[in-house]
Amino acid sequence: MKIRFRILLLLFSYFFTTGASTIGQTQHHFNYRQTLRIDFVLSGDHEQQQSAIAVYKKSPGYSAGQNQNTPSFDYGTYRLVLLNPQTDDTLFLKGFCTLFEEWRTTEQAGKVSRAFEQTVEAPWPISKVRILIEFRKKDGQFVTLINELFSPKETVPVTQIIPDENQAEIIHGINNPDEQADLLILAEGYTKDEKESFLHDAKNITDYLFSIAPYTNLKDKITVRALHTISAEAGTDDPVRNIRRETAMNSSFNTFGSDRYLESFSTWTIYDYAAGVPHDHIIVLVNTSKYGGGGVYNHFSIVSARHPSSPEVFVHETGHGLAGLGDEYYYNDSPIPDFFDKESEPWAPNLTTLVNFDIKWKHLVPDTVPIPTPPTPKYKNVTGVFEGAGYSAKGIYRPALNCRMKSNEAEGFCEVCRQSIKRIINFYAQ
Ligand SMILES: [Zn+2]
Repeated sequence: MKIRFRILLLLFSYFFTTGASTIGQTQHHFNYRQTLRIDFVLSGDHEQQQSAIAVYKKSPGYSAGQNQNTPSFDYGTYRLVLLNPQTDDTLFLKGFCTLFEEWRTTEQAGKVSRAFEQTVEAPWPISKVRILIEFRKKDGQFVTLINELFSPKETVPVTQIIPDENQAEIIHGINNPDEQADLLILAEGYTKDEKESFLHDAKNITDYLFSIAPYTNLKDKITVRALHTISAEAGTDDPVRNIRRETAMNSSFNTFGSDRYLESFSTWTIYDYAAGVPHDHIIVLVNTSKYGGGGVYNHFSIVSARHPSSPEVFVHETGHGLAGLGDEYYYNDSPIPDFFDKESEPWAPNLTTLVNFDIKWKHLVPDTVPIPTPPTPKYKNVTGVFEGAGYSAKGIYRPALNCRMKSNEAEGFCEVCRQSIKRIINFYAQ
C-alpha cells in the first residue's frame, strides 16, 4: 500500500509542477545523504530588494527523500527552485518566508536599507543544477532574484559543516528521517549546566503539541529531537528592560519594536547548530519566562520556554513555521494595513480575500452557512468565512470564529488549519 501511495503522490507532483520531468528522474539528480545549504542575503528597503549568495555549504544527512522534491502545495513569499540546466525541468522546489519581508513593512524600511541572513536547504545535487531564488509579488507572480549555475564539483567556495559536537536526543518518535516529519528543538540561552532544564522544557511543549488535534493523530509520523546547544549566559536579550545576554543564537525580544516579538537574526548560526541533525523544521526554545515568540515558514520557529502560555504560543508559531498558516487575528486600526493585497488571493491556506475562494476551503463550508459568515454564536463551531484576519479587520477572511492561529484562548485549530497541518506532516512523512 505504501508503494502505491507514493506513486500516486509522485503522479500528483508531476502534474502540479510546471515543466516537471518524467517521474523518477529527480531521484538520480540528488544524493539524499548530504545537504546543499545555500546561505544568502536579502537586502533593500520598502521599495526594492536584492539578493546575493554568500556561501554554499555541504553538511551530512538530509531530512527528506525524493518524495519531498516537488510539493503539491505552493506556500511562501519566496522559493528556491533547482532546475535541470539542460532541460529546464524542475528538480526541486521549496517555498519559504523571511524576516526581511516583515521588516520591509516597518517604518524604518521607508528610510534605510538593511540586509538579512537567509538559509535554504536542498538535497545535494550530483550534477550541475540551475539555482533560482524567486520572490512572489502580491499579485502572485514570481520575480527572479538569483539565477546561477551550481556545480557540485566546480562551484567554490563550498564549506564542509562540522555538526555540533553535542548529541541530539530523540524525545519523541523514531530515528527514520526519510519517512518521519522531523522537528528539531535547539536550546537558546541555556548554559552548559542547564541541560536537564532544557530537556524538561522541550518535553513540556512537545507533550502539549501531541495533546491537540491534528497532532494527536499524527504522533506516529513525527519525530522530535532536542539538542542542548550551549550559551555562555542564561536568558535572552530584553531591550525594553535593558537586559543583554551572551547567547548562542543572539535572540532578542522587541523585534521590529514589538516587545513580545522574540526573534533571532542569526539565521546562519542557527542552521550551523542544526547541521547533521534531521530537521524538517527547526524550533528555537529560549530560556525565559517572558511571553513571546515568532514563526516564519520554512525558516524557523522560536518561542519562550516557560511563560504559562508557552505551549500555546509554540503551537501557534509552528503553525506559521512548519505549516505556512497565516495569522487569523486582526487589528481594527492595523499597523500594517497593506501586508496582504486584497485584490488577489493570499497563498496562506487559512486566509482568503474571496478573490478566488474556490481554491481555498469553500468545499468545507456547509450550504446552510452564509458567505461571509456573521460572527454570531450560531456559527461558533462551524467552518465558515469570517471577516477579519491577516492583521486587517476588512477584506480578509478566516475559516472560524476562533482558532489557535487567532488566539491562545481558542480550544485548538480550526478545521482548515487542522487539514493544512495534516497535509504538511503527511508530506514530510510519506
Ligand atoms: Zn485556523
